Amino acid sequence: MTIKTNGLRHVEHHADFCVVGGGLSGMFAAISAAREGARVVLMQDRPVLGGNASSEIRMWIRGASGSKDQKMNLSNRETGLISELEEENIFINPSLNYSIWDSVLWNMVKSEKNITLLLNCSCADADMDGNKIVSVKGWQLTTYTWHTVYAKYFADCSGDSILAPITGALYRVGREGNSEYNETIGPAEGDRKTMGMSCLIQARETDHRVEFRAPKWAHVYHNDSDFESVKGAEGSDFSHCSAEAKAKANAITRTHTLGTNGTNFWWIELGGENDSIHDTEELRDELLKIAYGIWDHIKNHGDHKAENWELEWVGFLPGKRESRRYVGPYVLTQGDIESEGHFDDIVAYGGWPMDDHNPGGFYANLSEPASLLHPTPSPYGIPYRVLYSKNIANLFFAGRNISATHAAMSSTRVMGTCAVLGQAMGTAAGMCATRNITPDGIYETHIKELQTKLADAGCWLPWRKREIPALSLRAGLNLTDAERAVLFNGIERPTGEGKNYITLPTGGEIKFSFSKPERVEELRLCLDPDFSRVSVSVNKKMRVFAQKSSVGLDFKPMKVAATLVKKLEVYADGRLIYSADDSHHSLLKIAIGCEAKEISVKFLETWGAGEVNVYSCDIR
Ligand SMILES: Cc1cc2nc3c(=O)[nH]c(=O)nc-3n(C[C@H](O)[C@H](O)[C@H](O)COP(=O)(O)OP(=O)(O)OC[C@H]3O[C@@H](n4cnc5c(N)ncnc54)[C@H](O)[C@@H]3O)c2cc1C
Repeated sequence: MTIKTNGLRHVEHHADFCVVGGGLSGMFAAISAAREGARVVLMQDRPVLGGNASSEIRMWIRGASGSKDQKMNLSNRETGLISELEEENIFINPSLNYSIWDSVLWNMVKSEKNITLLLNCSCADADMDGNKIVSVKGWQLTTYTWHTVYAKYFADCSGDSILAPITGALYRVGREGNSEYNETIGPAEGDRKTMGMSCLIQARETDHRVEFRAPKWAHVYHNDSDFESVKGAEGSDFSHCSAEAKAKANAITRTHTLGTNGTNFWWIELGGENDSIHDTEELRDELLKIAYGIWDHIKNHGDHKAENWELEWVGFLPGKRESRRYVGPYVLTQGDIESEGHFDDIVAYGGWPMDDHNPGGFYANLSEPASLLHPTPSPYGIPYRVLYSKNIANLFFAGRNISATHAAMSSTRVMGTCAVLGQAMGTAAGMCATRNITPDGIYETHIKELQTKLADAGCWLPWRKREIPALSLRAGLNLTDAERAVLFNGIERPTGEGKNYITLPTGGEIKFSFSKPERVEELRLCLDPDFSRVSVSVNKKMRVFAQKSSVGLDFKPMKVAATLVKKLEVYADGRLIYSADDSHHSLLKIAIGCEAKEISVKFLETWGAGEVNVYSCDIR
């Protein structure tokens, strides 16, 4: 319905679920709910999706792997929608061009028939009925239109938790004092300090000399010592956390090494001692003066071997690390993370260290490190109860604003973790919206079903095994008993206790058979995405997630994992049901929709590997 108000257009939408904020957590919440059958509206205030990972901010996606301080254990990397996205991007966009990345993100949402995407639409208001949200309202800049979205359930994935001040949902800002949740990495007394925001820099190596003339307004840094902070935690003056925590931490400092494996200048950071929402515009101005000053330093002050490097891009939209965090029925703490988070209602996991940035940011005393990395187990579990509001009955959230202390959030905030949190929350919201369950009701009576759905969607829940459909267990298989046991062990990644996949020759086949025809709806395949990532990229950073920052002449395009299957065919009683000759995903769900005595899948060609590794293959 379209209503005219005050001369400005006003459009109403009616949906089951409305998500505010289209970073990875919001996108994946919207997609998961849509795939559950819910009608979804996704309201995003920028022209592109992806939040801090978008072309506007360009932050690397990291998660339960890739930290220098924990063993480089890529078998912990997040799967589910985040793999689907990355695999599509590597296929479409091997040179990791940011405009193409934006289009891959956009297409992922636009391909979902149940999602209405409102881009350039900033949520600014909501209507309430007691402790329930009735509708949210957003202003769309490009069309000068107000959009009101009525829905049964809402999710705030805006990072800044825009719906908190509007709806009265409980939230917190700043660092808890250590005694409040028995933590050690925070200050003794609580405060309102946060981690800051940053404008990143990207550069490109050319084959010729490139001059740079600094703008007059840029700051000037003659020497490295004008901005480099102390190296190493020992002896550093980072006094806020306990001595015990400091002894275990690693300090990270401000390197300005250019290169394909170099820095992205994350440390051009301010705002932790300001109001990280309302001071953003002034902070951006200062961040730009620093960013251009740092580039001038690299090009014109001292020998940085940067003669042939050209400034490619500077972010004008600060990427934010921290502002409001919601309060849910449970608050995740440092202790939960350190004790591995073995929650009954585990729906996601993390594994990045507690990466607690210095609130002083770029202007912190140079005797203090830019951040302290406090070790965490990888993985650690995250419970469902941190994903919905304690006092607003139909409000979910995911991303950096989940119900966690500052200390816990300093780990859960990385985007691989935000992605699996978004998928978990969206799946729960989809269940609520299509079946009239409350968020609390999912916790009380449907948590196992939610966990089963997540595992089927490719999300790893540590210490749990995926349930194998009864139809598969009843079927005969053309495999040995040992192979059958591996195929049906419910584990879809290397765990250190065996490889968990079976190996077939190229051209090999898996065949399910029954004595009489059975109704088969779907074949589900989980193939080897090459957890080592050696076949995907020669570049260390891009093995963690395929995104680039600065690139040298040594940059090599990504390759589809050699272990993935390119050509495959699926038959029901000898009749071809499905075939693909450019398949490039590790998780495939192939609709069968018929009665058959025999279902077979033939693996005809890989993307380079001599054999085919299959983690799971089942029918339902
Ligand atoms: C400089 C920097 C370095 C970092 N380093 C890493 C790293 O190396 N790896 C890593 O994984 N993570 C890193 N992080 C953390 C990570 O980027 C964030 O924690 C993460 O992006 C949070 O995800 P989110 O979905 O909650 O929010 P976002 O990614 O910020 O997405 C939220 C989206 O909501 C939109 N939005 C906001 N308000 C509204 C509104 N009113 N209406 C509609 N839409 C709205 C925003 O525009 C945004 O697109 C870093 C962050 C920063 C800033």
